[in-house]
Amino acid sequence: RPAGIVVLGSLNMDLVAYVAQAPARGETVTGRAFRTLPGGKGANQAVAAARAGAEVAMIGAVGTDGFGTRLRTALDRSGVDTDLVRTAEGPSGTAHIVVDDEGGNAIVVVPGANSAVTSLDHGDEALIATADLLLLQLELPLPAVTAGARTARAHGVRTVLTPAPVPARPLPPALLAATDLLVPNQHEAAALTGRTDPYAAARALLADVPEVVVTLGAAGCLYAARGREPVTVPAPRVTAVDTTAAGDTFVGALAVALAEGRPMPAALAWASAAAALSVQREGASPSMPYRAEIDAVLAPAPGGTEAERDS
Ligand code: ATP
Repeated sequence: RPAGIVVLGSLNMDLVAYVAQAPARGETVTGRAFRTLPGGKGANQAVAAARAGAEVAMIGAVGTDGFGTRLRTALDRSGVDTDLVRTAEGPSGTAHIVVDDEGGNAIVVVPGANSAVTSLDHGDEALIATADLLLLQLELPLPAVTAGARTARAHGVRTVLTPAPVPARPLPPALLAATDLLVPNQHEAAALTGRTDPYAAARALLADVPEVVVTLGAAGCLYAARGREPVTVPAPRVTAVDTTAAGDTFVGALAVALAEGRPMPAALAWASAAAALSVQREGASPSMPYRAEIDAVLAPAPGGTEAERDS
C-alpha cells in the first residue's frame, strides 16, 4: 500500500505578483502579472507528498470566504483527504508574494482561519495515530502543532518539522522532544541557533532532535544525525524561474521516501530531484512534480549516467 502521511498545517491563498524587481519601502513598481494560487506551507507539503505517491490527509482550517472553497477543492483535486479540514468563520489565510525576475521571493502571510486551529480533537488524534509519518510546520498555533507531535510520538509515528516561518521565540521543548527530524532552511537554522554556519547550526540543533536536514537552496542540503559526521547532498544544477515552495516540495518528497522506508541518503537525493524540478516552473503547488517525473531525473539516461556523459 502507498505510504500514509498526515499533514497538520496551514492552507493559504497565495496572491502572487510577478515583477522585474521587488519594490523597496515607499516605492511603487508595476508588475508583469498576477495570480491567485492555492498554497500555505501545510497544504503545499500535502500536495507535494500526494504527487510524490503517498496517501495524504490534511488537518487544518479554511475560512468562510471564496478562497476557502477554492483551497479545499484544490486539495481534493490533488487527491488529498480534506475530511478533517475545518471551516472557520472569517477570512482564509492569505500569503502576499512578490516574485522577481531572478526567481527570488518576498512574502507576507496573514493567518486568517489558520489561527482557529488551537487544539486537536479525537478525530485528528485517531488519524495521526494511523499515519506512517506526520508533517508539521509553524503556520498554525503552536499548541496545536505541539499536540500533533506528541500524539504522533505516543503512537510511534515519525514526525518531521519544518520550523517555518522563522520562529520569533525558541521552540517549545515539548515540540522538539517529539520531533524526529527537523528541516530548517539556512535562515531558520541560524535563527534557531544563533549560528550562521549551517554545519555549526546543525550540530547545535542535534542537542534537541536526533536528525537535522538544513536546506541550502541551489547549494543542496546538509544532513546531520547524532553520532555521525554531517554530509552535504548537492542539488541538481538547473535554471530557477520561481523558488516559491521549493522547500515544501523538498519536504513533501522527503517524507514520502522516508515513509516508504528508504535510507536517508537515497531519500535526500530523491527530494532534491523533486525540488529542482519545482524551481524550474512558476507557482507553489502547480510547480510540484509527480512521482514518475522525480524518478525520471534519477534514472540513468540511455547511453550511461549523467556523470559518464559529462566526463
Ligand atoms: P522556499 O522558501 O523558497 O520554499 P526554502 O528557503 O524553504 O525555500 P531552500 O533551501 O531555498 O528552501 O530550498 C529547498 C531545497 O530546494 C534545496 O535544498 C534544494 O534541494 C532545492 N532548491 C532550491 N533552490 C534551488 C535551485 N536554484 N536549484 C536547484 N535546487 C534548488
